[in-house]
Amino acid sequence: MTASSSTLAARVNARRLINGPVEGEFNPFILHPIKYAFAMDAYKTGNDNHWLPTAIPMQRDIEQWQSQTGLTDDERRVVKVALGYFTTADSIVANNLVLAVYRHITAPECRMYLLRQAYEEAIHTNSYQYIVESLGLDEEEIFSMYRDARAIHDKDQMTATHTPALLDPAFKTGTPEADQQFLRELVDFYIVTEGVFFYSSFAAMLSFRQRNLLPGTAEQFQYIMRDESMHMNFGIDLVNGIRTEQPDLWTPDFVREVTDRVAEAAVLEEQYALFMMPRGILGLNAESFGDYTKYVADRRLASIGIAPHFGVQNPYPWMAEAIDIPKSKNFFETRVTEYRSGALQFDDF
Ligand code: FE
Repeated sequence: MTASSSTLAARVNARRLINGPVEGEFNPFILHPIKYAFAMDAYKTGNDNHWLPTAIPMQRDIEQWQSQTGLTDDERRVVKVALGYFTTADSIVANNLVLAVYRHITAPECRMYLLRQAYEEAIHTNSYQYIVESLGLDEEEIFSMYRDARAIHDKDQMTATHTPALLDPAFKTGTPEADQQFLRELVDFYIVTEGVFFYSSFAAMLSFRQRNLLPGTAEQFQYIMRDESMHMNFGIDLVNGIRTEQPDLWTPDFVREVTDRVAEAAVLEEQYALFMMPRGILGLNAESFGDYTKYVADRRLASIGIAPHFGVQNPYPWMAEAIDIPKSKNFFETRVTEYRSGALQFDDF
């Protein structure tokens, strides 16, 4: 082993997900050799899954939206509410990532993925704007829904308030209390917001695809859901990784707290689903959405090694198929043949 490679090895061994040496300031961070393969795998998958909203045709959507008989009022409501929620939620997430989470993560390969994730949040914001403009929706109505609609406001409120330490410029990790607080906020951020709060909108939007309604809008939501399931899976790996490095943080009280917050989020998500489709749409009814939300919440708890809270069956097994984009739908393969996009996969939904 040469002197420089042993220095590199020592550097990598010293790496920690949090509280590690910060390779910054006057030294650029050195990526290789990789310690946290999950982060680089997520980065590569993110690149393979790259897509751009404005390359997706919206002509059919515009025709259906403008036609009196193209969509029911209930279906139109679902689209507007989902856009109203996501336009605010995804920008809160993007702000948290770049202004807060990034500062405290000390592994360079994880920071690489956070940069990719932040870009994807920007793509999603671009996508919502593109859909709003294409369909000619009332921007004022959509973009102020986070204030006007209680069910959206309550979810945003929970998201905005579950990261107080992350948003405090004076907050630092490095003590057991601070590290546990950071871990708690990571769970809230990745498991509650990106893991529970997005999924009834995804199910509702993907149900359009099953009936060939709003194909361009549904396709964009399909890609967004694929990206978001990667964000969540990265968050799960991060949480589980910090737990492995600092097992003392994972106390019985902490587990109870996490369970309570995921359960609370499931209740808010159920209320949101009811608000989004008070009479149900496309064969999905409000009660089954309640079960779906609880099923998703249990899956999220299991992903970080916590026992299920609700114990319900998945009422929408078709969601697993809806997110499994066939190879022929690889974004750049269908649009720019020379661009090689990799195998697509979803680990979770
Ligand atoms: Fe995200």
